[in-house]
Amino acid sequence: MLDNILNLADWVVYGVRESAEGYQFTWAYPAITLCPGGHAEDQLPRFGRKEPLFLDLPMHGKRVALLVDRRRYRCKVCGKTF
Ligand SMILES: [Zn+2]
Repeated sequence: MLDNILNLADWVVYGVRESAEGYQFTWAYPAITLCPGGHAEDQLPRFGRKEPLFLDLPMHGKRVALLVDRRRYRCKVCGKTF
């Protein structure tokens, strides 16, 4: 049910924190299995992470924040980062 609460297909909610100020949902795209050049997962070491925070419309009168867990990878075969 939580996967669909914000209507972002394919993204997964893996954490919800409620505080006096509001709710914070942590989102991530499921693990990448191929690089854009088609090379497989075992050639894709992680290459950093970004976690931008977005504010959404309030829910139940409380602030809603979305923390997006964006992982970066660099392909060992073609050198592309994505
Ligand atoms: Zn590649």
